[in-house]
This record gives sequence, C-alpha cells and structure tokens, in this order.
Amino acid sequence: MNTPRVRWAALGGLMIGLLVSGVAAQENVPRLPPTRPNGPSPAPAAPSAAKPKTETFSSAQVPRSTRFGAADWVEIGIAAKRLGLKVGWTLSSREAVLTDKDTRLELASDRLEAGLNGQRIFLGQAPISRSGNLYVSKIDLERCLVPLVRPALLGVPKPAPKTIVIDPGHGGPDTGKVNGALGLFEKTFTLDTSLRLKKILEARGWKVVLTRTDDRQLKPGKQDDLQRRAQIADEVDADVFVSIHFNSVAEQVEKVSGAEVYRFTPQHQPPVTRALRRLDDEVLNPGNGNDVWNSLLAYSIQRRLLRDLKLDDRGFKHDRLAVLRLVSCPAVLIEGGFLSNTTEARRIANATYRQQLAEAIANGLGTYASQLQSLRSGANDSSR
Ligand SMILES: [Zn+2]
Repeated sequence: MNTPRVRWAALGGLMIGLLVSGVAAQENVPRLPPTRPNGPSPAPAAPSAAKPKTETFSSAQVPRSTRFGAADWVEIGIAAKRLGLKVGWTLSSREAVLTDKDTRLELASDRLEAGLNGQRIFLGQAPISRSGNLYVSKIDLERCLVPLVRPALLGVPKPAPKTIVIDPGHGGPDTGKVNGALGLFEKTFTLDTSLRLKKILEARGWKVVLTRTDDRQLKPGKQDDLQRRAQIADEVDADVFVSIHFNSVAEQVEKVSGAEVYRFTPQHQPPVTRALRRLDDEVLNPGNGNDVWNSLLAYSIQRRLLRDLKLDDRGFKHDRLAVLRLVSCPAVLIEGGFLSNTTEARRIANATYRQQLAEAIANGLGTYASQLQSLRSGANDSSR
C-alpha cells in the first residue's frame, strides 16, 4: 500500500517495554501469533495533537473489568453477556466459542486473530488466560466486538451517510506498488476503481467526492499529500472516507493474495503490524473519534469483498495509518488484492474485475448505511 504510518521520529527512542504480541510485518501477519500481553505500565499519555470531533462510546455501558499489567481486561463470561452470547470452550480456559443462533465468535488466549462467523478479525490485544479463565481486552470488547456483534449497544447512531469521499491511493510520481514484470502500477488501478465506485454510488443516490481524479499527487511530500486527502474529507463534511489501495509482498509472492480492510488503531493499542506498544499509541487522534463506526464500516466492506468476490480473507485489521489519522468521519483503507501475485495482478489489471471490486465496496457501504438506518429505527441489533 505504501501508505506511511504516523511517524513520530522524536518519540522513536521512547519504546515502552510492553511486549504485546509476536506479530510479524504487515504483509506477513501470521494467522495465530503468540502474545504475552503483560508488562510494565506505559508512560503517561503523550499530549494529543487534536481532539476527535465526537466520542461515540458510552462509558456508562462498560462492563466490569480487571487490570492486568498495562491494560483492562473483561472476563469472558462478562464479555459474552455484554454481547448477548453463550460461552462454550474448545480448549479448557484457553479457547472459547461465543455463540447464539446467528453468531460464532472464536477467541483464544495469546492469539491476536479471532474468528467471527468464519471471517478473520484481528484484535488490538490477544486475549489472556488467568486463573483458569479467559479475558478479552476491554478496548477490543467495546470498540471492536460490540460494534460487530451488537451495534445496537452503541447508542445514538451516526446520521445516514450522504457524502462519501473516495481516496484513490498514490498518484503522479508516487506510483504505489509496482509489478515490474507485468508493467502494472498501483496508482492506475486505485484511480480506475475509485472512478467506477463513484459512478455506482452516485447512481445509488450518494454524493461522491474524489481526492484526485487524474494522475497526480495532491502535495509534493508524502506526509503532506496524505494530510491533504484527510483534509478534503473535512472540507466537504464527508460522512464516510474510503481510501483504495492494492498490496504487494516481497516474499512468497505467489502464495499471498486476497483482500484486507483497515480501520485506524484505537488509542492504547499497538497496530497489528507492530509487536510493541509505543508512546505514540497512547495519543488520542482525530481518527479515534469514530473507533466503533470505523469497526462497523471496515467489517461491512470486508464481508462484502469476501462474499461477492470470493477473495482470500486477509482479515479485518487495524493500523495507525497516516491517511486515516486525521479524518473526522468514519474511515477505512481497502487493500483490494496483491499486485505481487501474478494471478491476482492479472485480475486487478482486468477492468471487469475492477468493476466487480467497485460494486463489492459499494455493497459494503450500502450494508453499513442500512445498519445505521436499522439502528436509528431500533429495528435490528445485529451487524450480520
Ligand atoms: Zn497503496
């Protein structure tokens, strides 16, 4: 994707000694990485550069939690009650399956990856096993699992989205990922897919603004370019921001394929790409003002990508991506496939596939919008 994460050079040496998980580099996130979540308490939170516009999370609803190390944890029985699910065990005190007639949520100790109805969900902190019981991070429960399983608990929903900002990743001298053998550039396909998505969404009655409509960078420097993209969303008072990218890996290129959708990482959690919790993880960014809606939006889109296109499931993920950090509305970044994989690169280069991809994204946005509608009418308490 080539989208820089938030860089904090001045804080680079201030690594908190909190060994959170054994997650490898982003493009090679193992399915079930080991985790040792406890460690010394983090340093005091760094001052926030800007406050989020809204805070949708209702602290009055927060279930009882327990402090282990530097995080708050909720016992699995309490978490299940919050989610309206029943607890079953597949491995004594280490692997739980939470269910109702429509839901199957699989959580395991020391595993960042959870499963929700067969879909891969990457939590911010791996659940932990203590005294014969399993605990899930309070942040994961409230900002990830509740939005996905019981969005009705989120309180007053967002108004119906009207304006969508689509951000075609890269442009101009910034080519994004490249498949040299096939002569393919990410920037070409992000723009084409975005233009297709714009047409579909407009036909469905939504106002659409693109951050770029031709082959250009918005600002000369990468960080300025990314900030400008977020700024456009604020200028047009966007209800949803969708950044479109294609992916690449350097190794095992023919083995890695599929789609992944990113939300901005919640405050106090390390991004899925990094093992260590760092001082900048303690900063409350504008993108965190929509944690719960980011989760619902990302899950809705990933679900449609998997269902409509039968893509390999690379997961519902989170990262502290610069382009999502400053956006004031619900925002996601979509990786629509791997240009490094010959088969997938040829598919991405095919206009028919890009049209299908755009339609799947539009369907995911439609699912998100209809969920908000359901929440407003109180008619539905499920994200499925
Ligand atoms: Zn990219």
